[in-house]
Amino acid sequence: MVKSEYPIYWEKNDLSIKIFCSIPAIATGILVRAGDSKIVIDPGDGILRDLNDELEPEEILSVTDVFVTHGHHDHVGGVWSLLTYLRVMRKRSPLFIWYPEGCSEIESIYNAFRTVYSNSISYPIILRPIMDYKRFIRRGVAINPFPVKHSETTGNGDEIRFVPALGFKFTWNGTKICYGGDTAYCHELAKHAKGADLAILEAGEDEESVPGMHMTMEEAETIGRSAKEFFLVHVPQ
Ligand SMILES: [Zn+2]
Ligand SMILES: [Zn+2]
Repeated sequence: MVKSEYPIYWEKNDLSIKIFCSIPAIATGILVRAGDSKIVIDPGDGILRDLNDELEPEEILSVTDVFVTHGHHDHVGGVWSLLTYLRVMRKRSPLFIWYPEGCSEIESIYNAFRTVYSNSISYPIILRPIMDYKRFIRRGVAINPFPVKHSETTGNGDEIRFVPALGFKFTWNGTKICYGGDTAYCHELAKHAKGADLAILEAGEDEESVPGMHMTMEEAETIGRSAKEFFLVHVPQ
């Protein structure tokens, strides 16, 4: 199903996902709840406003993990305000940030944040660059990171380079949500989406985008049909 009206909400077996927004070059923002756990994915611009609408302040403070698929601004633009809010509200428990190794945007934001607020940060921020694709568990949620194929143009001209980019599959009580992040059609995404209870797939290619950077609607649908349900997101508006 193509989704252009946000937010999008889905739940099954105590696992839920709310996609506040997913518009290429503008913003993404996703909240996953698994039992009592709260996970933020791709905190683009507006994430703090959306979390504030959705949750009580103490619930925002209890977010344990942030998952970042890649460093493009529409996926990380809200990290600074989220980190700052948690500091102002005196979060104490650690915040883990998981991101693809080589994603310099996250490390730069973190370093700048530490420089600006130095000794007044009330909570540990634990950066976890993902270097391999081993499954791991956070508060009972199994996470499978997998590599995807995403690119950008360099500042000077039409040269294209790949960027470190991941998709994530989250499993809770046997229920699986596969989120591909931004990607061209790739085998790893097709493999992880297959059989998932929900696949969230970008269909970001249009006549203005760089070929091979995003999926066409047809490509995304092909993968989506192998999952039990799917949403197509990140469609240019
Ligand atoms: Zn994007
Ligand atoms: Zn991107």
